[in-house]
Amino acid sequence: MGAAAKPLVVGNWKMNLDFVEAVHLGQQIGVMLKNRPAEHAEIVVAPPFVDLRSVASIVASERIAMSVGAQHVNMNENGAHTGEVSTAMLKRLNVEWVLVGHSERRAMYAMDDAAVAATLQAVVRSGLKAVLCVGENNDVRQGQGHEQFVQAQLESALADLDPRHHEQVTVAYEPIWAIGTGVTASSEQIHSMTAHIRSVLGRLGLTASRVLYGGSVNAENARTIVLEGGVDGFLVGGASLKAESFMTIVQACDDCYAGKR
Ligand code: PEP
Repeated sequence: MGAAAKPLVVGNWKMNLDFVEAVHLGQQIGVMLKNRPAEHAEIVVAPPFVDLRSVASIVASERIAMSVGAQHVNMNENGAHTGEVSTAMLKRLNVEWVLVGHSERRAMYAMDDAAVAATLQAVVRSGLKAVLCVGENNDVRQGQGHEQFVQAQLESALADLDPRHHEQVTVAYEPIWAIGTGVTASSEQIHSMTAHIRSVLGRLGLTASRVLYGGSVNAENARTIVLEGGVDGFLVGGASLKAESFMTIVQACDDCYAGKR
C-alpha cells in the first residue's frame, strides 16, 4: 500500500443490473458491512445512471457506510446534449464520485485526452470527486512504452488543474489488457507503475492522491496485490457485481491498512 492513505475500493457495475437488482446488491453489501464493518477502507459503488437514485436512497435510508459514484458525466453544465447527464444532476442525487476516462469510454465512445481533461475539470469544479482512469493497451506494453503512455495521459488530464482541486483526484491504473480479461497485471508490474504514477503526480503537485489498480481484481488475488503492489485500493469491475467477492476485496484492503499503520 502507498504511504498511509486510507484505502479506497470502487465497484464499477458498468452496464449491469437494473434498478431492482442494483438495490438488492446495495442491500447485500449493507448487511455484510453491518456484520463486519470496514474500519479503514472507503467504499464507493458506481451503478448505471438509471440506478443511481435507488441506490443512493437505500445507502442513505439504511445508513450504509459507502458512497455512490457515476461511471461518466458530461463536461458541459446543461443544454442540448441528448442522452447525457450533468454534474449538477448527479449532485442532486447525492452522488459524490465520478469515474473519468474509463478505457471503455475512451475506446468505444471516442473520449480523447482533451475530453478527459475537460470532464475532469467539470467534475472537480462541481465539487465531485474524480477517479481518473489511465492505462496502456497490450501493444504499448509489449513495446515497453507503458510508462511514457501513462505519463502523457496524466499530464494531459492534470497539468491545468487548479491546485485547490488536487485533493479531489484519485488515479486508477487500469492496463487495458487486464480489464475484464481474467489476466491480472503482476504485483511487480503494478508496483513499478504505481511508483511511476506517484512520481508523475508528485511533479504535477498532486502529492496526496490515492493510486488504485484495476484489471481483473477478484477475491483470490486482491490480498496479494494490496500487499505487494503498492496500491491504495482498487477499481473493480466484474468482481463488484457479487457482494461476497466485492466485500472480500474490501476486507483485504482494510486488513492491510490496519496491519501497516
Ligand atoms: C473496470 O472496468 O474498471 C475493471 C477493472 O473491470 P474488471 O475488474 O472486470 O477487469
